[in-house]
Formats: sequence, structure tokens, C-alpha cells
Amino acid sequence: MKAVRFHRHGGPEVLKYEDAPDPKPGSDEALVRVKACALNHLDIWARNGLPNVAIRMPHISGSDIAGVVEAVPPEETGLRRGDEVIVNPGVGCGRCDRCLSGRDDQCADYRIIGYGMDGGYAELVTVKRTHLITKPARMTFEEAASFPLVFETAYHMLVTKARVGPGDAVLVLAANSGVGIAAVQIAKLLGAKVFATAGGTEKAEGARRLGADYTIDHYKQNVLEEVKKLTGNRGVDVVVEHVGKATWEWSVKALAKGGRLVTCGATTGADAVTDLRYIFSRELTVYGSYMAGLGELLEVVKLFEQGRLKTVVDSVFSLEKAGEAQTRMEKSTHFGKIVLKV
Ligand SMILES: [Zn+2]
Repeated sequence: MKAVRFHRHGGPEVLKYEDAPDPKPGSDEALVRVKACALNHLDIWARNGLPNVAIRMPHISGSDIAGVVEAVPPEETGLRRGDEVIVNPGVGCGRCDRCLSGRDDQCADYRIIGYGMDGGYAELVTVKRTHLITKPARMTFEEAASFPLVFETAYHMLVTKARVGPGDAVLVLAANSGVGIAAVQIAKLLGAKVFATAGGTEKAEGARRLGADYTIDHYKQNVLEEVKKLTGNRGVDVVVEHVGKATWEWSVKALAKGGRLVTCGATTGADAVTDLRYIFSRELTVYGSYMAGLGELLEVVKLFEQGRLKTVVDSVFSLEKAGEAQTRMEKSTHFGKIVLKV
């Protein structure tokens, strides 16, 4: 098969479009012909290399996959060759107490397709049969590839962790990002009042179209001051954090008494400063959030089938242009998901 692989860590230039051996499915795996694969920041972290994370080389990135079943295990009855599917990107052991109680994201053996194992920057990928989900018929392959990871992440953050309800004021940082686009819509569905930050008028407009009640231009405005102004000095009930060092300090300060901060990432750096006086005196709660359980992804799929959520595809590149696609993501000029068409 053709695949985009890297043999060493580095910039986009280490991505090579080349021949790679066809993956051989194990006894509980299906072989999927990839039609589309969306990018995530995880792909760039894997390519650059992270301390304490060993990536097996050569590596194939790509966690968000939509495609067609090519071959199924002999005993499979629910899936057939030719079925159009999306892939649940998080893989637990399937046997431990966490996996069996729907918290597979807390499994000790939890791995992400395209990160802890080969992914979808390729013509073929092997996937556990239990991780294949029927693609919503109304979606194209590009749309279908662009939602699992970020929407399940946002669902886990807002529904499972922060338990957002009607009337909550929710601040979503970087509403143009994949997680941001998902979080604005899910918070809105839950009945919250949504405040979104975005860089520039165009992105702010985009956030408003997705349902944000108020937008703050983080290039021109002081986000903390604006939040205070818009909430009558009260602050928000929930902050959706994934930016990290650059925003963390005021994310904490933007919370009302009893507020919840939920974080799923640190794109600008992890060594953020927390003023602990805010945590105890305002009785704040900080939730960590990492991916989601399979059941949560199925809830998200239902919402897409009902047309209550929508994906935003920023751009589509051919597989061999994966380097250009990642460069676009690193420049942060995009609004929505960047997708590779295979
Ligand atoms: Zn497990």
C-alpha cells in the first residue's frame, strides 16, 4: 500500500509518501480501506517527538478515519465487506474494570490509533472489529473522518466531567480549533450560554454561526476583562481549556465561585502557573480529560445522525500532501478540520 510515514522525528519534511507493507489483521481485527483521515495536533506532537513517549518507527499517524471494510474476521457477523465505517480512535484492553464500566479512556493499556499504533495516513489500516461504527449516511467520508476525536473529547469534557446544564455560562477557548468547534455546539445543545474566543473577525463570525452567544477576539481584546464585563463581574461556570500555558492563568481567574475548569491539552506548553488562592477561595474544580469511552462516541454519532451537530471541514488535501496539511495546522490559520483524502 501507499502510506505517509516518518522514520525519525522532525518537521513536516520527515513525512514520506512511500510504499509500506499491507497491514495484516489479527484474529479480532478488520481491514479497512481508508477514504479520509483528519489531522489532529497529536499527529504533530508524534512527528516532533515528546519526552517520555516512544513512537515505534517507521510510524503512520492519523487517528480520525473513515473508510470501507475490506476484510472481516472469519467469525464476524455484524460487519460485511463494503460497509462504510468510521473508527473509534481510542483502544483499551476490553477486559479490565475501567473498560467494562465504559471508562476505556482510563484503561492502563489505553492507546490511540495513529499515536500508540499505526493510523490512517495510509490506504489500509487494521482496526479491532469492536471499534468500527457505521458511518452516518448523510455524511461524506471527509465529514465523517473529521469528528470522532474532537467531538468525543468535547462531549467527555462538557457532559461527563463538567456536567454542563441549562443556564451555565461556558467559556470555550480557541473556538476555531477542532475541540473548540465541537465544544461550542455541545455546550449550546446542553442549554448553556456560550462565550467563545477566536482570533480575528472571520473566526469570531464562524463561532457565532455555530451557536456562540458572545465572541471575544483574543488578538485584540483582553479575554479576562471581556468575560468580567459580559458576566457583570461574576465570571463563567465552566472554562474549556486546551491551550495551556498561554491562557491557563486567566482561565482560572475567569471562573465564578464554584466554577469548573476542564482541560484536554496544552498546545502552547504544559508548564503553566496556577494561583492557588483562586482554587481554594472560590472553591474551583479542575478536571483532566483525555479522549472518551466508546459509549460516549456512540452518543455523539447519534447527535450527528439527528442533524443536531455539524462538522466543519477547513480544507482537504491528498494523502501525499500530508506535510502541507500539517504545516497549515501548525500555522493555525484554519477554521475546522484539515482532512486527507486517500
Ligand atoms: Zn482495559
